[in-house]
Amino acid sequence: MEDFERSSGLAAKAMERMLAERLPPTPENFTLWYVYFSGVNPDLTRAIDLARRDGLTTSQGLCDELYKRFFALDAEAQAIRETSDKARYALGRILEQLGTVGSETERYGNALSGFREELDQPLTLPELRAMVAAIAAETKAIVDRQAVLQHQLQDSSQQLAEMRVSLDSARREALTDGLTGIGNRKAFDLMLQEAMEEAVREQQPLSLLMLDIDHFKSFNDTHGHLVGDHVLKLVARMLTECIKGRDTAARYGGEEFAIILPRTSLENAAKLADQVRAFVGGRQIVNKARNANYGTVALSVGVAALRPGDGAGALVRRADHALYAAKRGGRNRVAVET
Ligand code: GH3
Ligand code: MG
Ligand code: MG
Repeated sequence: MEDFERSSGLAAKAMERMLAERLPPTPENFTLWYVYFSGVNPDLTRAIDLARRDGLTTSQGLCDELYKRFFALDAEAQAIRETSDKARYALGRILEQLGTVGSETERYGNALSGFREELDQPLTLPELRAMVAAIAAETKAIVDRQAVLQHQLQDSSQQLAEMRVSLDSARREALTDGLTGIGNRKAFDLMLQEAMEEAVREQQPLSLLMLDIDHFKSFNDTHGHLVGDHVLKLVARMLTECIKGRDTAARYGGEEFAIILPRTSLENAAKLADQVRAFVGGRQIVNKARNANYGTVALSVGVAALRPGDGAGALVRRADHALYAAKRGGRNRVAVET
């Protein structure tokens, strides 16, 4: 009963808020506000509170972005559920169609053997002519039917191909960070695993950079959360501009990024890390429309390289330790694992 009352209360608050902010009561908006009031997702609650503190109304655009950011996995699960329902239906139809092919072919075969038996009897000319006409008719019937079936099968296979595309795009979305458009933490975990396996298999070096924006909390406090979000997008773009080939950048979480560098020694990774640091730190952050200049943001970077016997956890931990050494050393610098 308490559960019922609590969830009714949360539902009522969610509805009230949507009305107050003139947001349409869509399932997505409802989910967002229900979860907000429930407090079960502190990151989501924080993101909304920060936006409100910055004096932003919670526009539909912001709701869409937050929904995507916090419920992307649910979107993937939903796409999988929908697609497997559709796939089950399509497969059912294909089996049905193949079943029809089987029984039609059998019927045709039976008709043909019937004719052969008749041919063993002496036949008059009209009888023979009638039989040839009947065989032709049966043959035409099955050719026509097969054409229809072929069409239906093509249809089904087209549907299956479309499903694969929609699953692929759901997967891509689930691996993409909603704010910055680069890989998210889940993508990072997958890519690092893959890169590590390849490095071991091909006996090549592999390095990892962990990058964290310096004093980003106070940047947010000074310029507002929205400008902060803009900076995260900008930094993500700059990171991807600094790398090439098989290198990958991902948002590790919050204001922390990671760059995976296959076939790169610790020494070369440290050089690249410093180039990235200088590139990002040298960029003025401006908003032309508002004629505003927010100065620059600095990065601290930790560098580590794969060692024999390393798991992903050990490599990340060493890069993270190096990152904290860079912070302790005064920030806006690169530290290499010892
Ligand atoms: P340090 O130099 O030690 O890294 O200091 P810091 O302030 O960057 O680190 P701290 O961990 O204290 O704070 C991280 C800040 O990053 C706080 C949080 O508001 C901000 N942040 C995390 N995620 C986001 C986001 O998605 N958008 C914005 N605008 N800010 C974010
Ligand atoms: Mg920071
Ligand atoms: Mg941090």
